[in-house]
Amino acid sequence: FRHGQASDVVVDTPSGAVHFGQNHPVVVVAGPCSVENETMIVETARRVKAAGAQFLRGGAYKPRTSPYAFQGHGESALELLAAARTETRLGIITEVMDAAELDKIASVADVVQVGARNMQNFSLLKKVGAQPKPVLLKRGMSATIEEWLMAAEYIMAAGNPNVILCERGIRTFDRQYARNTLDLSVIPVLRSLTHLPIMIDPSHGTGKAEYVPSMALAAIAAGTDSLMIEVHPNPAKALSDGPQSLTPDRFDHLMSELAVIGKAV
Ligand code: PEP
Ligand code: MN
Repeated sequence: FRHGQASDVVVDTPSGAVHFGQNHPVVVVAGPCSVENETMIVETARRVKAAGAQFLRGGAYKPRTSPYAFQGHGESALELLAAARTETRLGIITEVMDAAELDKIASVADVVQVGARNMQNFSLLKKVGAQPKPVLLKRGMSATIEEWLMAAEYIMAAGNPNVILCERGIRTFDRQYARNTLDLSVIPVLRSLTHLPIMIDPSHGTGKAEYVPSMALAAIAAGTDSLMIEVHPNPAKALSDGPQSLTPDRFDHLMSELAVIGKAV
């Protein structure tokens, strides 16, 4: 692993360069699990921008456990993300599941996300490593830190040094209360092992909106460089991950709480 290099990942967005790194404010990525329609994505984008987020997230291609669950709107959702980007000047983060869609996704996304389920899809890692957009690499749901860092090495070895590591919760034996166990200990552990910037996703990490704010605050206290928060204008009607999505009003409140802690925007 590449020890001790104090290099940020710098992402070009329509509003300018955003730095992911220890000496910069916490970067906040917010938005729905899935891009559902134009109204909801544009409304969510406006609200998270007004609250201080730098990036809009939203899935066009969704990795769903069941093949009968909503799979994402694909290409048309990418067009909606592009429209939201133009209107709000937020950066865009969206997931690539299949290398066949990589060029299309990278033409809209400012950061390309590799999801937990593809963390060890080595051919996909090589391909995102061979294109120029920064990569958000989520931790596999049962991946060790070593496996996660080696997955990041695949991307870097293919030529792309701009990798952000995102903890999104690991498998838990007790799913009665939380969807996953959000492993905040990775923050100091990764700090000791790698220069790569760290993102914490308390939405997938807990699976419940009511637990998201306290885990976001804890992640900042522990030194995260960035946060990913799912926000939906009407969580009860969401096509995916409604139970863990904050309303825009709750997200506003969280952003004001984060500002009190310090390093946040
Ligand atoms: C997501 O970000 O919506 C997602 C599917 O995440 P993960 O890969 O962490 O499950
Ligand atoms: Mn989701």
